Amino acid sequence: MTLANQIVYFSEKEQTFDSIILYMDLDAFFASVEIREDPELAGIPIVVGGNPKTKRGVVSTCSYEARKFGIHSGMPINQALKLCPHLTMVRGSYKLYGEVSKRIMRILGRYSPTMRVAGNDEAYLDLTDVVSDYEEAKRLATELKDEVYANEELTCSIGIAPNRILSKIASDSDKPDGLVVVKPLEIAEFLAPLKITIIPGVGKKSSEVFSNENVTLCGDLAKLPHQLAYQKFGKYGLKTWKLVNGYNTENTEEKFVSHERKSISEERTFFDRYNSWEEIWIRIDSSIDAIVSRLTIKKMSFKTISLKIRFKNFETYTRAHSLTSFNTSAKHVRIVVKKLLEEFEHKKPEDIRLVGVKISNLRKIDDNQKTLTQFF
Ligand SMILES: [Mg+2]
Repeated sequence: MTLANQIVYFSEKEQTFDSIILYMDLDAFFASVEIREDPELAGIPIVVGGNPKTKRGVVSTCSYEARKFGIHSGMPINQALKLCPHLTMVRGSYKLYGEVSKRIMRILGRYSPTMRVAGNDEAYLDLTDVVSDYEEAKRLATELKDEVYANEELTCSIGIAPNRILSKIASDSDKPDGLVVVKPLEIAEFLAPLKITIIPGVGKKSSEVFSNENVTLCGDLAKLPHQLAYQKFGKYGLKTWKLVNGYNTENTEEKFVSHERKSISEERTFFDRYNSWEEIWIRIDSSIDAIVSRLTIKKMSFKTISLKIRFKNFETYTRAHSLTSFNTSAKHVRIVVKKLLEEFEHKKPEDIRLVGVKISNLRKIDDNQKTLTQFF
């Protein structure tokens, strides 16, 4: 099978966003703490890390003034000194950084109950249930920045976007002391002028592959047909293509805080047209397998099965059926979905744009208790 013939699936989850995520990153954290402690260091190129006497070691963090010389984290000290001979080296006060970090994370934790600390100077906050829209999220971020500065005299950069990866890109795009909001419909436009290397994971090697195909900016990749992105750059290229075109590429399974699942579902948007119900069924069938294997891993049983079907012009139907008792078998999902599909069989399969299957009414399987497989 050639790559071009492979079907590329887009799930509906990739097209819709239902989260508002804030990412905060302290600006040049270690260096900024040192400057706060010793104002004489302000405005000059400094690096934290390495041994000032032996001039060995690597740069841990550097001030923005040092960055202007091309110095960056991870660079050997002797190389940094070559770039900037009058560089000031500061031995890290790591205990102090840890204390400052803890206090700042405590402040952040008051803004949302759902938080993920990603490092001593960065964290994600899930604002989905905290704010009603992006305007409110922006106001909250301003308050947060002010509070961090009032308490610690440190600036941070914040990105607000519908998922984590975009919130980080948004924050990175305007440093220091930035606040960038990217709403779902603005993603592609926001990313277009940015270098492809701003995307986490696009390192030196992959950026070379991209530039061989004249892709330097996110917008260059976005313009390619998705099949071509897949052919040229593989699965990773397709994922990046989705991202730069404003699709939600984050694994929605991976929530910040694990919570009891209420349903398991799979939806498939068809970019290719299928002329027969058999072809549609193959896609549904694989969705059912995926759902039931997730159910098995989670050691759960279900009672309700739903089918969602969308035709062109966004005409969408949802049908559901509940069994009389809890069940675990794929066979029963298939039987119910087939039955629910009957209603639509007079319609043209080529008009179908999306099919989704969901099982809900889930219950954890008690090891001592056998699930009944009684049907209807
Ligand atoms: Mg930082």
